[in-house]
Amino acid sequence: MLRARHRHLEAALLTVGLVASAFSAFFADAGSADIASWRLYLPAPFVLWAAIRFGMLGATGAITCLVLAAVTAALHGYGPFAGQSPQNAALALQHFLFERAAPLFLVCILLEQKRRVENSLRESERLFHTTADTVPAMIWLMGPNKLCDFVNQRWLEFSGRTFEQEIGTGWTDGIHPDDRAPCIEILERAWAERGKFEHEYRMLSADGGYRWILDVGLPRYSPSGEFAGYVGCASDITERRAQVVALRASEERYREVVDAQTDLVCRYLPDTTLTFVNEAYCRFFGKTREELIGTSLLDLLPKETHDAARRYMAQVVAEPADNHAIEHQVRLPNGGVGWQHWVDHAVLGPDGRVEEFQGIGRDITDRKRAEEANRNLAHASRLVAVGTLTAMIAHEVNQPLCAIRCNAEAGLALLKSARPPLDEIREILTDICRDDQRADEIVSRVRALSRKRDFQPQTLDLNAVIADVMRLANGDAARRQVRVVTELEPGLPPVRGDVIQVQQVLLNLLVNSLDAMRDTPPPGRHVTVRTKARTDQRVEVAVADRGHGIPADELPRVFDSFFTTKVGGMGMGLSIARSIMETHEGRIWAENNADGGATFRFVLRVAE
Ligand code: ADP
Repeated sequence: MLRARHRHLEAALLTVGLVASAFSAFFADAGSADIASWRLYLPAPFVLWAAIRFGMLGATGAITCLVLAAVTAALHGYGPFAGQSPQNAALALQHFLFERAAPLFLVCILLEQKRRVENSLRESERLFHTTADTVPAMIWLMGPNKLCDFVNQRWLEFSGRTFEQEIGTGWTDGIHPDDRAPCIEILERAWAERGKFEHEYRMLSADGGYRWILDVGLPRYSPSGEFAGYVGCASDITERRAQVVALRASEERYREVVDAQTDLVCRYLPDTTLTFVNEAYCRFFGKTREELIGTSLLDLLPKETHDAARRYMAQVVAEPADNHAIEHQVRLPNGGVGWQHWVDHAVLGPDGRVEEFQGIGRDITDRKRAEEANRNLAHASRLVAVGTLTAMIAHEVNQPLCAIRCNAEAGLALLKSARPPLDEIREILTDICRDDQRADEIVSRVRALSRKRDFQPQTLDLNAVIADVMRLANGDAARRQVRVVTELEPGLPPVRGDVIQVQQVLLNLLVNSLDAMRDTPPPGRHVTVRTKARTDQRVEVAVADRGHGIPADELPRVFDSFFTTKVGGMGMGLSIARSIMETHEGRIWAENNADGGATFRFVLRVAE
């Protein structure tokens, strides 16, 4: 409003000046005045004023005013165009006006163009400011003189200060004292190189506390390509930073937990390259983290196990949803071979593809060695059991051998006759074959029991297994004047077990029963072997004797290793029987009979 009034006043003054100067230029001299007279230049400043301040409109108005004054003056016999023929006066007026108007309009056009450029710059600046005020980030502008000349609304809301306080160098007042120097240094360095900069610092916020800011600055240039300072965008990253710090702390905690584990933890890529190992892993292999990460985990396994490891890897890659467990050999730092048990699972990326695997492992070298020692012990104990039955075995084998010899002698005698009875001889030869078969079976059974072998579970008919063992033990029982009775439940469901190991348990129980009845008068020496199907999907075997029984204080210890009450006993038979039952997921226990003697029972799981 005030601007408009000023403008009107200016226009009025201009008009007065123009009219006065035109009057003085054209009406001062009566008759024909000199066209070069200084008076004619009097309106020039006003015409220029009109053109500069009011543009084309002002210039046209001023020229029109001059024309009117010149023509009016000429008609009344004044000014330079008076007293000439109308043709000459018009020509002279035309020249005069052209001389005055042409440069004036040129000035107008140039001024107009400048004004337009300035307007459009002002408009884009206004637009920038309006846009900057609407965005949630803090925007700032710095001129080439390194002074801030703009901060947006969001910046002011953040700092709680006024625009005037922030511009110039005022904005640096809010920077945390510890961050100010590094902050200015980064800005200076970027400025010198006209490069982008990005840094984090603490800034005083409206609530009086310092908050973390991420500030990014870019150099800006004028339309003519001149360096015009920097434009920047700052954002409050306090929460994000706190999250990152918390994440780092939680990662650190996680790493500490993982490193404190006695279990081995590692991560590896599908091509077996290790990407992470914990302290326990490093300790186990006697290497540093740096030595291990980036190498293939196959390097830690004996060469002969590489193919099996690759097959396992292929399986883990093919079934990423499952956990996979494996026990395998590893190369120990001392050059020996150890064992580890691993459970691996796939770590999937956002696209569902396997990125890497995480494994948790345990050193099972001791367990494996103990198992091996157990196997050796079990084998030794079996040999001992077989050894105690040597007399019986000799007796068993002897029987068919005697029969063979008798039959052979009888056959030879018959062959000596003039007409040998062929049918009889055929019968004798058939008997010889059958007896040979019997002897062979006994030898095979003893050999099977004596052989060292691994756990081989299969479906077993327990009644048949007992019958087999009885064939081996019967001779010895008879020699010791013990009556062995079997009460085998017909139609028993098959169980799952290793035939040799189950035979070993039975043999051990039978030999112990025979031993326990050493002092029992012969008529009372009875052993009963019973089988029965239980309702819990188990089959139970009981070996009951009429021996000396087990004193109450010894009952809990009879399955302990090296517990024996026999002279020359090893005390390993029952301990091995119990570990065999554990391998079978079965159970073995002992109890004293109410009418004397002891009963040992074991149960095995029914085969699915
Ligand atoms: P060993 O036969 O070498 O002594 P075992 O482990 O087979 O080792 O037996 C351990 C001990 O359990 C025997 O020494 C004996 O004291 C007791 N025992 C085992 N079976 C019987 C049984 N049927 N009656 C009484 N005691 C038994």
